[in-house]
Amino acid sequence: MALSRKAIDDLNQGDIALIGIPFDDHSSFLTGPAKAPELIINATESDSANYFTEDLKDLNEHPQVFWCENQLGSEYLKLGDPVRQILDKKAIPFTLGGDHSITYPVMIAMAEKYSNLSILHFDAHSDLYDELDGNKHSHACPFARIMENGLAKNLTQVGIRTLNTHQNEQAERFHVEIIQMKDWKPGMAFKIDGPVYISFDMDVLDPAFAPGISHHEPGGFTTREVLSIIQSLDLNIVGIDVVEYNPDRDINGMTAMVAAKVVKEFISLLTA
Ligand code: MN
Ligand code: MN
Repeated sequence: MALSRKAIDDLNQGDIALIGIPFDDHSSFLTGPAKAPELIINATESDSANYFTEDLKDLNEHPQVFWCENQLGSEYLKLGDPVRQILDKKAIPFTLGGDHSITYPVMIAMAEKYSNLSILHFDAHSDLYDELDGNKHSHACPFARIMENGLAKNLTQVGIRTLNTHQNEQAERFHVEIIQMKDWKPGMAFKIDGPVYISFDMDVLDPAFAPGISHHEPGGFTTREVLSIIQSLDLNIVGIDVVEYNPDRDINGMTAMVAAKVVKEFISLLTA
């Protein structure tokens, strides 16, 4: 049993195109996420589980869902090129990182197609630093670059539990709506009109549930809470990324299975 495979060139309108961007050059603390995409696909195809989403969609050789392999450009700002090719095919890009820095080049491609994008961003961190350690493209900065370049009309962040003065000022500057982890309540709904891009950093989960991440920030979501949020989303989703899985920090591949579960439930939202 397996996910279906396709080359990006062969995609059709409405296909869901999973690609890997195995890039972690802009991680500030640890590398490792470059190894993530294939391991998340392996977990999705593990014999320890089945291919069904919780609402009973069978992703085994699903005719609309394709693993299009790792795509790696040589230049950071061009990492979104395969996303542009997927959009040209009128397919839906679903990117597996990689560290969170990949979201900026991906959004450069997304914004060429959608002029009125909103972003729903799940993360322990705001990733709004103007720069970190002198690096404007650090994985701590992508949402500052996205907002100052006008690539999204608004940004909603969920699960944040590491705000500091600088990032709070950045959030005010870019009119970011932040639902801090301390303020989140079960059943909160996200009402966002127009096309929505979802960026999901695995560290939004509590490290107890997902230890395979670079920055262990306590006090996050349970796996069940995340799945309930995903299953409750009623949005016009036009692209997704799942980033920051770090296999070097994982225990028995359990975080890969969590990432695979998150990916499957997101795919369920995209399939008819
Ligand atoms: Mn992040
Ligand atoms: Mn994070």
